[in-house]
Amino acid sequence: MADYTSFFRKLKGASVLGVNPPVHDFAFFDLWAKPAGLLFLLDFLRRGGNEVSLIDCIFEGRTGELSWGRNSVKNEEIPKPAPLSAIPRRYRRFGLGEEEFAGLLARRPAPDIILVTSMMTYWYEGVFSAIKTLRQVFPAARIILGGVYARLCPEHALRAGADMVQTAPLDLDFSLPAFDLYRGLKYGVLITSFGCPFRCEYCASSALEPLYKARPRDLTMADTITQLASGEVRDLAFYDDALLWDKRSRLYPLLERLKPWRARLHTPNGLHVREIDDEYAAILKKSGFQTIRLSFESSDALIQHKGSDKVSEDEYMAALDSLKRAGFSERSLETYILAGVPGQSVDSVERSIRFVRRAGGLPRIAEFSPVPGTVSFEEAAEAMPALREEPLLSNKTAYSSWLSGAMTPAELQGLKDLAKKGR
Ligand code: SF4
Repeated sequence: MADYTSFFRKLKGASVLGVNPPVHDFAFFDLWAKPAGLLFLLDFLRRGGNEVSLIDCIFEGRTGELSWGRNSVKNEEIPKPAPLSAIPRRYRRFGLGEEEFAGLLARRPAPDIILVTSMMTYWYEGVFSAIKTLRQVFPAARIILGGVYARLCPEHALRAGADMVQTAPLDLDFSLPAFDLYRGLKYGVLITSFGCPFRCEYCASSALEPLYKARPRDLTMADTITQLASGEVRDLAFYDDALLWDKRSRLYPLLERLKPWRARLHTPNGLHVREIDDEYAAILKKSGFQTIRLSFESSDALIQHKGSDKVSEDEYMAALDSLKRAGFSERSLETYILAGVPGQSVDSVERSIRFVRRAGGLPRIAEFSPVPGTVSFEEAAEAMPALREEPLLSNKTAYSSWLSGAMTPAELQGLKDLAKKGR
């Protein structure tokens, strides 16, 4: 593993540009995602006496406003990469096009250091493309690649064309993410803890954050106030993996102090259903939560076990009742159901959807994608060894219904239709 922690600690007087690359995929939606790790690092470097700036190719490619502060993002069709050539869907670049990105860069002073972040492993082509453009425009700059893809696929990431690839967790004193580098952002992103105490077999949380750590409360609060005080932010999305863990000491006090701001709150990551009772459902409602996603995953015992046995059917029904009694509408309570996990049958997904619908929840299919470093990835790679060499084969849209043979495209569509029925 390559770790440049001491390089970042010593860096002073440099001009540093952070870049969030475009996304190459079949589909992309703004789910309040922002490159928080990159923003933490930029803040750290700024406090250390460096000059920092940011280009977020997704944000700069926004075309219009969607609900809850989010944006639609421009896209253009691009040729499908060879491993996905058989998938009968259009492949696109989301965010700034190549020329636009190059033009934007050319109008800026040359930085000394460029930090390129990365997210999904199967988005690496957007990362490679960004690095190529950066290299052309700023040949003398040192380019450092980090982020989720670099961490999970360290050897593959060496092909990106960066000068340095950060593949270990950075051991730095992170404080407040530099959200002030955005101009015109209409939502904020909050993190009250890092990692997750559970160990679900399909999730990379523990590979990325081996230890669950609560963030100091005063930092979370300062972060929240800074983002809200920008004047344009009304929506806040929590990006914790385990938001409700230890909720009395962490989340409750934050929600109490947030009340005067009357922010609209969202939880794009699924909430741990077992933690929701009447009292907590009422707190969520009174605190201004607008959209809630619940982690149920499956009514199938095998899949529940792979998911740390974190919720039973009875617990799910009880939580749903509590949330409805607190005043949440069915439409605001989406429930994640996994589809395509190794060993999972189509029938099992269908039963889970029917169960959630009967219970009065709103099922949302989450298509499985094998993530390196997880038990489920190893199972998937045993059946398809090419996964170890080619991250594109993990693409969420393509894996279950086109590549792995877990289900046919028609079966997946049938499950999606069943989940949407009556909405
Ligand atoms: S799936 Fe959710 S509960 Fe399970 S380890 Fe990942 S973040 Fe934690």
